Amino acid sequence: MSAEEIERQLGIELRPWQRKILNQIPDNFSNGVIAIRAPTGSGKTLISLLLSLFKFGAKRIIAGVRTKTEQTRFWEDVRKFNLGVVPLAFIAKSAHCRLLNDEELKAMKELNIEDMDMSCAKCMFALPHEERANIHLARYFDAWLNAFIDTNPNLPPKQYIEELMGKLNDTHCTYDIEKTLAKGVIRLRRRLLLIGTYPYIFSFPSVVFESILSTYDEDYPVGVEAEDEILAEKAREARIAVIIDEAHNLDKLSDQWERRLSVKRMERVLQFGERYCKQLLEKPPNPLDIAELKGIDVEEAEKMIREATEFCRNEFPQVKQTAEALISKLKDRMKELGKEYEVTENAYKRLRFEHINELTLDFEEFSKLIMPLIRVEDLVSRARIIRSFTVNSGLFYTLYKYKETRAPEYRDQLLSLIDPDTWNFYMTKEEDEVYVSIKPVTSAPIITQARAKFEGPWILMSGTLPDKDYIEKVWGLHVDYYIDLSREVRIGHREVKIITEVTSEFKHRTPEMYRKYAEVAKRIILNGDDGVYLLVYPNARMMIDIANLMMDLPSSIKQVREGEVRNIPVLMNLAKKYPKLVIHAFNGGSFIEGIELTENGRSFIKYVVFMGVPYPNIKDDYTKDKIRASGLPEYRYMKIQAWMSVMQAGGRSIRNNEDSAVWVLADYRFSYLSKEWGLTSY
Ligand code: SF4
Repeated sequence: MSAEEIERQLGIELRPWQRKILNQIPDNFSNGVIAIRAPTGSGKTLISLLLSLFKFGAKRIIAGVRTKTEQTRFWEDVRKFNLGVVPLAFIAKSAHCRLLNDEELKAMKELNIEDMDMSCAKCMFALPHEERANIHLARYFDAWLNAFIDTNPNLPPKQYIEELMGKLNDTHCTYDIEKTLAKGVIRLRRRLLLIGTYPYIFSFPSVVFESILSTYDEDYPVGVEAEDEILAEKAREARIAVIIDEAHNLDKLSDQWERRLSVKRMERVLQFGERYCKQLLEKPPNPLDIAELKGIDVEEAEKMIREATEFCRNEFPQVKQTAEALISKLKDRMKELGKEYEVTENAYKRLRFEHINELTLDFEEFSKLIMPLIRVEDLVSRARIIRSFTVNSGLFYTLYKYKETRAPEYRDQLLSLIDPDTWNFYMTKEEDEVYVSIKPVTSAPIITQARAKFEGPWILMSGTLPDKDYIEKVWGLHVDYYIDLSREVRIGHREVKIITEVTSEFKHRTPEMYRKYAEVAKRIILNGDDGVYLLVYPNARMMIDIANLMMDLPSSIKQVREGEVRNIPVLMNLAKKYPKLVIHAFNGGSFIEGIELTENGRSFIKYVVFMGVPYPNIKDDYTKDKIRASGLPEYRYMKIQAWMSVMQAGGRSIRNNEDSAVWVLADYRFSYLSKEWGLTSY
């Protein structure tokens, strides 16, 4: 279908570039990758939806987004353009869950426990068994669906759930209802858009989308004879399209798969063990409920409760003592190793074999000690805080054994890592706590697995999408169409200034250079217009050292550093309260990507000052491993990473066509890099 025909059907007028893309992609495009590089505010969301619906004929679309703001953009566009698609935005399951208390939620977040690591089995709030659920649902289907479609997923999670529950007027779990509604939409043969964060495509929560999308298969189970016509219809109905928004983030999937263990985590787990034991002793669960929950008979449930209670009463005090002694021993050892490896904040050092051996064995010893607490946790909570520690510890140990022996039986136990050969052990530090970490050095296996899971056309979109060669080599994704609109589609106004009197080159990182940087920044801020100034440093250390030299700016100019304020609404209030707000952020931190200071689509950020070239830290072992795994020459890899950081941070200042911002590139190396990157004023 031509772009013009689509415009006629929808009664809308597309932008010329949108028309061009629609006319460029053939109608029969059914299973390949299209990569689109175009800036934020240019209408990428709409074009991805139009391609999916009109070019690929997809009945179900999955949109993988990074943040809730991006999730909302899809939800809004579907409603605004009347595309005849049901948009269902999936937020974290833990946000929906009524059986987790605030402490557990906080701990899950802190310990980075996957959202799906909680059990929903036989939950009293779950909908009845699916067949009955459908009957239950049939009565309210439209009203409930409208409740989801009409509730803004960008509301704070608690408010979102409260608002939903008010509209549903029902006590069942909102997460369960949403999943069942999605299946209902498929059964009614309506077009469905599932919007979820990356884990819904690339990680364990993808089982939710997989299960929803298999609804049609359930109607025609394998083995059931069906007419050719029905099979053809089935194939048409099952056609899906996958949209990956802000797809440059695929590069960071490997970071998101990281698993960490530390002394602090051991302490947290033990605290929860103690709390759960107390809970069990004070208020033991009803054996009938446990029997029902676990699908066992009452005697067995009674035995389980009795054994767990006896453990808590008689053995736990001793276990606690031994565990505390182990924690205390490990605390000293981790500190010692932290010093030996010279670990600095957010940097990674590859762990040597003898230390991997020593530490994984210690974690396993602790894990064995707390193992009986898993049964206690199982009886009193839906969270999986203790279990998740033991699972991670088991993974660490097996990965170590695999690396040591290369034995296939260990490899077989590491299926959840996809490709254990790409994982390494590191030591790192965050907020002064030393961690042992395992993480993959490439995102490619994760992407390949998701690609196989969700077959059909994929659309990758981003304003900072790396080139085709990079996507194919580093992410392992063959690209059929690479459409670069970055030069032809320009949003807002950008003035680019280069300052050559400073540099962040390693050999020049001296107190004198930092003073120069501070002077340059102060000059810009004092002489510039009102608004938010985003200062982007190559790393956290430089941010602290240089920001310390800027404390003499007048107090009417508010300054905050990344890490001090994590909450965007708080930053928004500061941006509104102070005529000039200076935000110190660093490369690799969360602000560069996630800071969305906008009102009515317009950005509050008027200046982005790059305090050096944001190359990744070449001294960092994880960076070195990633470069090696990429197969690219080091300098090329580094330049692409720096370009992505500059474009991302700069892009925070231009969110729509009315925005106008100044980008100051403070480093002499920008004089040639900016030419290479086509960074000009417009
Ligand atoms: S079904 Fe129950 S356990 Fe699962 S998320 Fe809902 S309330 Fe929580």
